[in-house]
Amino acid sequence: MTNFEFFNPTKIVFGSNTIAQLDQLVPANARVMILLGGESARKNGTLAEVKAALGAREVHEFNGIEPNPTYETLMQAVQIIRAEKIDFLLAVGGGSVIDGTKFIAAAVPFAGEPWDILTHFGGNIQSALPLGTVLTLPATGSEMNHGAVITQKATQTKLPFMNPLVFPQFSILDPSKTFTLPERQIANGVVDAFVHTIEQYLTYPVNGMVQDRYAEGLLQILIEIGPKILANPQDYDLRANLMWAATQALNGLIGAGVPQDWSTHMIGHELTALFNIDHARTLAIILPASLMLRSESKREKLLQYADRVWHLHHGSEDERIAAAIKKTRDFFAAMGIKTKLADYDLGPAAIDAVIAQLAAHGMTQLGERQDVSLEISRDILTAAL
Ligand code: NAP
Ligand code: FE
Repeated sequence: MTNFEFFNPTKIVFGSNTIAQLDQLVPANARVMILLGGESARKNGTLAEVKAALGAREVHEFNGIEPNPTYETLMQAVQIIRAEKIDFLLAVGGGSVIDGTKFIAAAVPFAGEPWDILTHFGGNIQSALPLGTVLTLPATGSEMNHGAVITQKATQTKLPFMNPLVFPQFSILDPSKTFTLPERQIANGVVDAFVHTIEQYLTYPVNGMVQDRYAEGLLQILIEIGPKILANPQDYDLRANLMWAATQALNGLIGAGVPQDWSTHMIGHELTALFNIDHARTLAIILPASLMLRSESKREKLLQYADRVWHLHHGSEDERIAAAIKKTRDFFAAMGIKTKLADYDLGPAAIDAVIAQLAAHGMTQLGERQDVSLEISRDILTAAL
């Protein structure tokens, strides 16, 4: 195991009927801005519950944070929050609303041009407004981590940033608030959480035995309950387990003290920014191709993955690796998610565009060994055609 520090200050309040606890979680004299996506939180009653819990506090609302939140939209909120002297941000929504709120929290007190937060990957943040979240979509782990991914529409640039100052102070996770999710978003959430786990597990061994078993547990839970949730959309316990699994897949615990990959995410971000493909769907396109192409450098962990996650014990090493990658692809398909660029009407021209953007964003040494060059990224995308 490699040396590490682990820090996670986010208080989790989990379960049904927990939104009322906002009254204890948000300071009594706070000037609150509720940040929202489109219509979902208003339509399904979550917003009304949130407002009731906030009682007599001064509450403002900002609507319209879109999936894959854009800098352009978020800066409108920044102007209002500065003008109204808001001092507490409450994100109500999925990963996009929470990520957008993290950016706003850092941008409001930022002295320079806030886009620089993204080009410096968050390293230049000196302070941030406090924030809390009410999660409505289990997927990203953003509710319990210090990362966010923001898109600049004008340049079709989607970049991540990280800084401990944007950890949510608390997150309310009420699984019953996810019952209104469309199947497509449930599938996306399962696959995003799965790939988060894989990006911190399927690298090379450093004897992180705790992290490995923990990651394998999360992967097995997602494989087990993903299709069950689609078949039993009103089952509370399945929702609860998905919600807690997705949070733990990216709250820092399984990634502490082990190598991390993240190349699937970085290539996927370009696909979303250029072609507007859902985040999780880009991951399902890139991951199987990447595992196949990089199977030599990931050999030991791929064999462990085949053995412990998929229980594949027959055949040669190469056969077991190929079978594990096929199982992964089949799992995505069982969630209704397609895994080829052609399924999204993309061909070789799209690959050229992605490679140009990766080059422009300095994404030229990706992966746990920094060996995913632009050439390897091109090979991965070509294998995903
Ligand atoms: P999302 O983009 O937040 O939401 C997708 C859709 O689901 C929206 O249209 C939203 O509708 C709808 N929705 C949310 N909750 C709902 C509910 N309870 N009922 C009905 N509809 C609901 O999806 P996400 O997958 O959570 O977030 C994706 C973003 O997170 C991407 O930008 C991705 O890059 C980023 N991400 C961040 C991290 C991180 O660590 N920070 C990790 C991975 C991915 P409304 O707009 O109407 O609410
Ligand atoms: Fe993700």
